[in-house]
Amino acid sequence: MTRSEELFGRARRVIPGGVSSPVRAFKAVGGRPPFVARAEGARIVDEDGTAYVDYVGSWGPMIHGHAHPAILDAVREAATSGTSFGAPCALEVELAERVVAHVPSIEKVRFVSSGTEATMSALRLARGFTGRRKILKFDGCYHGHADSLLVAAGSGVATLGIPGSPGVPEGTVADTLVVPFNDPEAVKAAFAEHGPDLAAVIVEPVCGNMGTVAPQAGYLEGLREITRRNGTVLVFDEVMTGFRLALGGAQQLYGVAPDMTCLGKILGGGLPAAAYGGRADIMATVAPDGPVYQAGTLSGNPLAMAAGRTAIDLLERPGIYDALEATSANLADGLARAAADAGVTVTVNRVGSMLTVFFCPGPVTDYTSARSSDTDLFGRFFQAMLKRGVWLPPAQFEAAFVSLAHGPEEIDQTLQAAAESFREIAG
Ligand SMILES: *Cc1c(COP(=O)(O)O)cnc(C)c1O
Repeated sequence: MTRSEELFGRARRVIPGGVSSPVRAFKAVGGRPPFVARAEGARIVDEDGTAYVDYVGSWGPMIHGHAHPAILDAVREAATSGTSFGAPCALEVELAERVVAHVPSIEKVRFVSSGTEATMSALRLARGFTGRRKILKFDGCYHGHADSLLVAAGSGVATLGIPGSPGVPEGTVADTLVVPFNDPEAVKAAFAEHGPDLAAVIVEPVCGNMGTVAPQAGYLEGLREITRRNGTVLVFDEVMTGFRLALGGAQQLYGVAPDMTCLGKILGGGLPAAAYGGRADIMATVAPDGPVYQAGTLSGNPLAMAAGRTAIDLLERPGIYDALEATSANLADGLARAAADAGVTVTVNRVGSMLTVFFCPGPVTDYTSARSSDTDLFGRFFQAMLKRGVWLPPAQFEAAFVSLAHGPEEIDQTLQAAAESFREIAG
């Protein structure tokens, strides 16, 4: 028995499924998850000493690679001054100033500890601000596991093959409308029927949680237009895309400014931090300035603020996003070529350093087309890659992440493994 197998056995006796978050259990791809001993740069080493090129990146935060020396120093330095105060500290001001500087649609920002909290709080605020009840989300978009958003969610919920989740009362989701992504007519129809009741539209401006899916030309502009006309708060959930696609996130890349934005993942530099922010008049509605309540014992945690501040400072260096784009384009092109050479039909979707290989002819533009992917074939590809030392996200409906630590050596190793893996699953 390997040490990972032994640990998984012990874990399953005391933790449901043996994991702290469902997708980590490898249910969608079979087999058992390696337990991670350590990680550095683009590589992860498991408890049995096996090294992998990592494309999970802790599901998004690790844009600088693992254990970046500057981030470790910042965390160490902060820790020696105390790990939590439950009182204001300079570090949260420093991070907030960076967020407001880089994401122009955010005039004020409130820190929380997870993306789930960020979206949940943003929607409460949108409802409090507008005095309306209904929210509109998109099929296959994941916004964390808050009750009202756990309907037609992608990511791990998609993998489990259930429409929502037991335990979420029908009444809670009764005010959540769901329409397909990239379908402007469906949005218009929803507004025609429910416009005056719609408090918010929440969207992943580039989807990562149905696998990577880009917005079609004009789509985000259309959402901006119709929400503005109806007095509905447009919320971009940039927990994944924030600081990943550009310093100003997807809204900078596509030039569309939402009313509110949710951030997480990279924001915390690998420690638990997330945030929601936006227009000053909307943010004035949150306590203590306004009546909408939201709070958190560990919010603005100094270690997370220090890690996040340093992660963002590192992203401010010139050429960073060009470098990420170049590496990611090489990888995506190489994967498509390797699949074609082996005679495996795939669609490689990529936006910046987010990418997904779908096992279908494509195009993949929404959750329905994403689900036409052959997930059994994906599972076999995943295992073939893992065996060759490449760790992809262990489910089809997820984005793989390229980091700044992925260099030519890692890309070469990945493409070599992919050539062999596509041939293996084709045969
Ligand atoms: C990861 C993610 C979340 C949830 O964040 P957690 O920190 O896991 O709660 C919300 N929205 C999007 C778009 C995400 O990718």
